[in-house]
Amino acid sequence: MPKTITLLGSTGSIGTQSLDVARMQGYRVLGLAANRRLDVLLPQIAEFHPRYVAVVDPAACEQLEAELAGQPDAPVLLKGAEGLVQLAAMEGADVVLNAVVGIAGLDASLATIESGHDLALANKESLVTGGHLVTDAVQRHGVHLLPVDSEHSAIFQCLQDAHSAKTLEKILLTASGGPFYGMTTDQLRGKTRADALKHPNWSMGAKITIDSATLMNKGLELIEAVWLFGLPEDKIQIVVQRESIIHSAVQFADHSIIAQLGVPDMRIPIQYALTWPERLPSPVPELDFTALTHLSIGTADEETFRCLAACKKAIRKGGLGPCAANGANEEAVALFLQDKIGFLDIGRLVEGVVDSDSFGGDYTLADVHECDRMARAWVRAHL
Ligand code: NDP
Ligand code: MG
Repeated sequence: MPKTITLLGSTGSIGTQSLDVARMQGYRVLGLAANRRLDVLLPQIAEFHPRYVAVVDPAACEQLEAELAGQPDAPVLLKGAEGLVQLAAMEGADVVLNAVVGIAGLDASLATIESGHDLALANKESLVTGGHLVTDAVQRHGVHLLPVDSEHSAIFQCLQDAHSAKTLEKILLTASGGPFYGMTTDQLRGKTRADALKHPNWSMGAKITIDSATLMNKGLELIEAVWLFGLPEDKIQIVVQRESIIHSAVQFADHSIIAQLGVPDMRIPIQYALTWPERLPSPVPELDFTALTHLSIGTADEETFRCLAACKKAIRKGGLGPCAANGANEEAVALFLQDKIGFLDIGRLVEGVVDSDSFGGDYTLADVHECDRMARAWVRAHL
């Protein structure tokens, strides 16, 4: 039987690559969700014939409703942020892939798990902002949480041998270093949106591309790894691997290290999350070892890239610390993309929020959203 998937964030970079995988594997699509880009969503509806479509943006919703009116086989339209959550919980999918960007994906991740579905997770912000809510729900409902993020997929792949996994001692989380690797604070000062949007190895959505330039992405991924693999922050070492060939590695009790390698193409981790525990043929080209002249390794400069330092502080504080760091970053990146703040302001604002409170203790979903709102307000008040 072919799998049936629901895909949240279908119009984005991960979303469209997920549909490449679905096309190749002959998967059925139960539901698609996007925010507003109907020019991308409409052809997806025509090709994959989902039973449900969720659109969050109200104007786009209205426009799609008009486009679909009178079509006999039109999908059911689910509206707004509530529609996204309804779609995540809809019966009939074998797995829900969440490729929404930002904390906007959190409620849908929880709805997926609470309705008993396996969750293939690209939306790292779900784990960063609501890590204990997500992991508790996974335990309670006995579903699988399958990482899509390339580094976390690599670590997950390295841990498939359960005997070795029990002796996991350390994670080597690789980072490309982004477009500004090796630069000083002075060199970063004048960097523009156009400079920051040029990633050396990956073509991704705008927000994560900026996060890669500030190293916030690696900070978010460190927090994501803490929640996914249960090691403390100081057992996760960040290693710069400029070519993005080594996607991460794990070290066991005997100090043996196992790494996962491949060309930088997200369709490998996306497909593995959807086919796990099986492996199936992929359209991704093989890694040509004869053309690999060298693999460069380096360290991440936390003194210069303050977002990474701030994320480490945030996870050490615990509680809502990571949520506050994430909210500040989402707000600051949006402002940077509108040319309203400079590149270095992002790190200053994220670190400022993390330093502004202790953030400790247990939290509810309502607390997470309140903390996110407060972090964004703090950023706007400290421009
Ligand atoms: P994109 O910006 O390319 O796509 C984001 C998707 O989310 C789009 O479908 C967008 O819809 C939708 N969306 C945006 N805002 C909302 C909202 N408020 N409610 C519902 N849907 C919304 O991002 P990426 O695909 O690059 O990244 C998606 C996630 O995957 C992020 O969490 C990122 O960190 C993670 N990730 C991405 C990688 C990559 O290679 N791109 C690698 C590893 C992880 P619309 O298009 O209509 O605006
Ligand atoms: Mg990644």
